[in-house]
Amino acid sequence: NKRVTLKRYVTGFPTEDDMEVVTATARLAVPPGSAAALVKNLYVSCDPYMRSRMTRHEESSYVPDFVPGEVLTTFGVSKVVESGHPGYKPGDLVWGMTGCEEYTLITNPESLFRISHPEFPLSYYTGVLGMPGLTAYVGFFDVAKPKKGEYVFVSAASGAVGQLVGQLAKITGCYVVGSAGSDEKVNLLKTKFGFDDAFNYKKEKDLNAALKRCFPEGIDIYFENVGGVMLDAVLLNMRLRGRVSMCGLISQYNLEQPEGVCNLFTVVAKRIRMEGFIVMDYFGSYGKFEEEMAGYLKEGKITYVEDVAEGIESTPAALIGLFHGRNLGKQLVAVARE
Ligand code: NDP
Repeated sequence: NKRVTLKRYVTGFPTEDDMEVVTATARLAVPPGSAAALVKNLYVSCDPYMRSRMTRHEESSYVPDFVPGEVLTTFGVSKVVESGHPGYKPGDLVWGMTGCEEYTLITNPESLFRISHPEFPLSYYTGVLGMPGLTAYVGFFDVAKPKKGEYVFVSAASGAVGQLVGQLAKITGCYVVGSAGSDEKVNLLKTKFGFDDAFNYKKEKDLNAALKRCFPEGIDIYFENVGGVMLDAVLLNMRLRGRVSMCGLISQYNLEQPEGVCNLFTVVAKRIRMEGFIVMDYFGSYGKFEEEMAGYLKEGKITYVEDVAEGIESTPAALIGLFHGRNLGKQLVAVARE
């Protein structure tokens, strides 16, 4: 069983050397009488929040820290190979929290979701039909509460969450602009995902001016994925009673001290609502989301781009690539093809 473990806690940007691919020789099996399930992992997800789990926290966070020497855990798509749980049998396809490894013994299989639409590529359950998809959906509809005709800005717009937020905004009848870190990504936003406009934030000398150019009338909704100087510039361009859906702050995850935000008083002056959310609080509404998103995919209203790394050994490079913008679309790792 090849697995990816954390070598040591990380400060600053993680490197491949902070993780290790090891081969465990002990054969995994469901212990007699237990309600565990042994799964074969088909796809595992690389997600930015995993960076926070690589640091040791004094106070507990909403997810536990990784433990050096132990396997990294992540969302994945898996096939049940052995089950002591009455609800699962060999061959069942599931997605949920698993290990960055070939096989995982899941001690709480009731935490897993069943895959009800195997007609889509199963990898979609690490993204558009999984955690990032639900994140885009609830962060946009439940938190930002969009109305037709509103002006929407999305950062990290070509990524797993961003590409979906932009398309949901178009379905809602909003005007949507995205920012991304390369011309190739900007082109994808405009030609594939149907954003009304997009810009490469790395090429803009003045983010405030770039936003003014794209939104002469200001921004109603900012879907925040990056934080820092981008958030600061966006605040200056928000309209009265705008909403900021605080999804993530990836530009800050590898910094020792947060930086970039000076314009917070705008929140007061313009009566802006900034609201953070954690997708796990919405797992209870997954079924409704899955049906709606599957419908959009079938109707061709949502397109989806993923970046697939091959083999469990590629996980460390794929994961750290997120913090350098190397992924084009949702980053995942194909561990086994069924
Ligand atoms: P992405 O697929 O968007 O990958 C990360 C991207 O972030 C990179 O490709 C890169 O794109 C961009 N990025 C990296 N470093 C920086 C930086 N310093 N400044 C600006 N952009 C940067 O990831 P996800 O879609 O999975 O996640 C997007 C955000 O959503 C993250 O902040 C994540 O933590 C958050 N999230 C929050 C959840 C919640 O429950 N609240 C759940 C899931 C995700 P580029 O080339 O464009 O710079």
